Amino acid sequence: MLNLILFGPPGSGKGTQAAFLISQYLLKHISTGDLLREEKAKGSKLGMEAQRYMEQGLLVPDEVVIGMIDQKLDEFAGKVNGFIFDGFPRTVAQAEALDNLLAEKGTEITKVLALQVSEAELLRRILERGKTSGRADDVNEETIKRRVQEYNVKTIPVAEHYAKKGKLSNIDGEGSIDEITDLLCAEIDVLQ
Ligand code: ADP
Repeated sequence: MLNLILFGPPGSGKGTQAAFLISQYLLKHISTGDLLREEKAKGSKLGMEAQRYMEQGLLVPDEVVIGMIDQKLDEFAGKVNGFIFDGFPRTVAQAEALDNLLAEKGTEITKVLALQVSEAELLRRILERGKTSGRADDVNEETIKRRVQEYNVKTIPVAEHYAKKGKLSNIDGEGSIDEITDLLCAEIDVLQ
């Protein structure tokens, strides 16, 4: 299997790039942000609880997102070439849980592709996206800054977790969408 983590701060382009990569490599896209927003739209108890964190720009508790991932892996294991994880894992505890869940299924993370984008550019992109995304957490500058801060404190250590395993590649995330896609494909093509 080809199991990729698209890694990077909020607004770094993970969702945009994942949309292309899933069709190119026939992978299943798993975005915890999208899954949580679906739960909210359904009005489920999980969605309502998650919303309290999301609207403040805080991470949702690990056990909530790990449970969702566990279910998705069960649903798709054996049916796809692999997965692209987007917005997950966001803490070292999530990374360890993911590694264990994949090991139980006889597979593992192949590579972590980390998009590098400056904070000024992130803020600009998210505010721009906020004009049309309908996401409350994309419009308030304080909330966006809190998301970036959560990333800096809790999520950056995930990169270190995979660097120690020799699985991390850093990608310049500030070119055009196509340029970044090409950089990602060059990394992925040598894996196969
Ligand atoms: P972005 O990458 O632009 O922040 P996401 O859709 O990935 O957008 O995430 C939106 C929000 O959903 C996060 O700020 C957080 O509250 C919640 N969330 C998404 N994924 C996770 C996760 N793996 N762990 C905890 N919270 C998450």
